[in-house]
Amino acid sequence: MPTIVASGTDFGLTLAAGLMLVSPWKPVLLMLPFIPWGMYVTRIFDKHSAMFHLGRGGWNAVHLCFGLAALLLGLLVPVAANLTGIVGLIVGFFTVVLVLGLNLVVYPIMANKDERVPEEHRVSLFDFSKLAERRAQRADAKREGKVELAIIKPDKSRVPVPQAETPEFALRVEAERLFLEGRGKRATSVDLVQVAKDAFSVSYMVDTVRQQGAQVPAAEAVRVMDFWKGAANMDLAERRKRQQADIKVEAGATAVPVRVTTSGGQQGLRLSMAFELEKQVRIKAEKLGLTESQLKELREIVDEQKGVVLLAAPAQRGRTTMFYSVIRMHDAYTNNVQTVETEIQDSLEGAKHNLFDPSKEGQDFSKLVRSVLRRDPQVVGVAEMDPETAQEASRADLDRARVYLSLRAPSALDAVAMWVRAVEDQAKAGKCLHGVMAGNVLRKLCDNCRQPYSPAPDMLKKLGLPADKVPQLFRKGGKVLVKNREEECPACRGGGYLGCEGFYEVYKFGPTEQNLVAEGNMQGLRAELRKRALPTLQQAALKKVVDGITSVEEFARVTQEQPAKPATGAKPPAGSKPAGAPAPDAAKSS
Ligand SMILES: [Zn+2]
Repeated sequence: MPTIVASGTDFGLTLAAGLMLVSPWKPVLLMLPFIPWGMYVTRIFDKHSAMFHLGRGGWNAVHLCFGLAALLLGLLVPVAANLTGIVGLIVGFFTVVLVLGLNLVVYPIMANKDERVPEEHRVSLFDFSKLAERRAQRADAKREGKVELAIIKPDKSRVPVPQAETPEFALRVEAERLFLEGRGKRATSVDLVQVAKDAFSVSYMVDTVRQQGAQVPAAEAVRVMDFWKGAANMDLAERRKRQQADIKVEAGATAVPVRVTTSGGQQGLRLSMAFELEKQVRIKAEKLGLTESQLKELREIVDEQKGVVLLAAPAQRGRTTMFYSVIRMHDAYTNNVQTVETEIQDSLEGAKHNLFDPSKEGQDFSKLVRSVLRRDPQVVGVAEMDPETAQEASRADLDRARVYLSLRAPSALDAVAMWVRAVEDQAKAGKCLHGVMAGNVLRKLCDNCRQPYSPAPDMLKKLGLPADKVPQLFRKGGKVLVKNREEECPACRGGGYLGCEGFYEVYKFGPTEQNLVAEGNMQGLRAELRKRALPTLQQAALKKVVDGITSVEEFARVTQEQPAKPATGAKPPAGSKPAGAPAPDAAKSS
């Protein structure tokens, strides 16, 4: 038999010779590894890439290339290595296995890196059967009532699992369901609240929007509440006073920090479980959602490091996140950075947190602020502003210290007006004010299922957007096409929105703005701020619509729900058109 050495130049000839070298049954053996490979590629990878829009066509081309490469190399390698007979066959076989195996490893690695793929939908090559089994087990557990969580008390001990088929066991299953359903909905917190004498209601906070859950009979709800209070080592007999403790709940491999808060009073009993608080509020300033010009303005405000700066947002709209993110922009190792808070949600490395405890006799929030201000700090973050606190802040040595005051207000101008009223001295309030930042949060469209559309000129006009410059916007989807069949989008679970992002207005105050505040000229201040090339809250939100981050509907929801406060001159009258894109004349409409 002639020996043929493969070379890259006469590729066709070599291949033909290679094919001639093998007897008819050898190709059959070489083809065997293609069967399981083909099953993975067509049944699992193809469907997976379609479901998450991972470039299905591209991936199929990649799989095809791997298949062809496996075939060619399987035939050529033995020839090139001058191997014949059974040895050649074995080498060819393993070459095919190696190349196809590489393909099977490459897809999961690349696909799992993609952030569009949620954790429970990660592709796993070997655990496929196990994954399916685990999913089935979970479903069974839900039906039959099995315990699936490990609950770890504040003292690190575990809550024991009661014996099956006892009332205690049934209660445990009920209590776990509250946690599991909250997590399943991607909620940041779950509340169980008394709505009537004999009824409680469950609600979930998902991307800053509260979703109503089921009604629960009072007797059952109180038992569930007591279970979680017990898990948090709280006083079960105490029904009125607010109690709070941190526990940990392990679901499979993931451990979730949970802050349990209970309270009672005129409105009835309440249990709140907040998940992963740190993760919720720990966002770098660059990732908050500010525009580039706003981030630059904020950096200038931070670098100045003196005077009062207001940080405003409506309730539960990213106020704490903003507070921590801005304070974190200061170097807490070279500066004396302190905070005064009613609840600590995250630890700022190097900073000193001062927690206000209202239950302590003689304690007063503004007194604590005063004592902190006397410790010669360089940066102080005060998490709540009331009139006494505002006055303390205005009296501080503000040439040497920066004081951030966080307050509930819908806009920068509202915040300034509230600050002036609280200080009760217009001139003083104006002189020490070095900046204001106001924010809010909107839900982001799910990348996996958002729907592009061409907006009608009418709609663009209403939004104050130039008709010729916005060819495409996005609306929420919720469904994906998998091999021509519509399925619920697995990334957002059909909701159409996934995650949220802040939008802001940021203004540094110089002598001009300070004087306008000192004169009580809020209209003048408003006009002055609009002169700057910085977007207003509405313009910032609208930019996120244009960028495809959110929908027109979500823009309308977050910009129209704020209560109008014409007295401060900060809000357009109800029913007026939202301000337009960051163009100078757009401000006219609001
Ligand atoms: Zn989706």
